[in-house]
Amino acid sequence: MEGYGLPPALRSLLATLEKLPGIGPRSALRIAQAILKKPTLLEELSQALVEVQTKITPCRECGYWAEAEAGLCMICQDVRRTEPVLCVVKEPADVLAIERSQAFRGHYHILGGVLDPLSGITEKDLRLDNLWKRLQKGAYEEVLLALGTSPEAETTAYYIARQLTDWHGKITRFASGIPVGSELEYIDPLTLSRSLRERQPVYI
Ligand SMILES: [Zn+2]
Repeated sequence: MEGYGLPPALRSLLATLEKLPGIGPRSALRIAQAILKKPTLLEELSQALVEVQTKITPCRECGYWAEAEAGLCMICQDVRRTEPVLCVVKEPADVLAIERSQAFRGHYHILGGVLDPLSGITEKDLRLDNLWKRLQKGAYEEVLLALGTSPEAETTAYYIARQLTDWHGKITRFASGIPVGSELEYIDPLTLSRSLRERQPVYI
């Protein structure tokens, strides 16, 4: 954004806001304006950011959001989650989407992305080593690949399934019904729970 007499601190705030997904120069300006109008909001926001920075960490087991003190997320700590299924997703927001459907009582594994060679994302950028380790030591009987339906997600699901050919358990994915290219977080809970119930084996 051009300066137009903006003080440097404000310019730097705008530049930072524009780095956020879905925020362009206009939205950045609107947000900055709203924050500056309301000192309490500014205070709340800065406090929340510091808290997140110091208190939230990726769960050491699954990669979901966890309290830094505990190290483990609420889902990994929940002893009532006994379904022997490990659901592999792309990002933490996908966990929220599946949890909203209330149709899954197993554990998650967050990859942190999908294979995307054009953007430079390769096997070593994803939490794959961790996944193999969990499957070796864990008592899981099924891996549910819920990475979405983009071409990159398909490639990643296929890659994981191929690496797991010698693994003892089942490898499954959602039933059809999820529109091509869609992200899990945009799918309504009902469709998601149906896809979960009607999951299908992955053949390679
Ligand atoms: Zn966890």
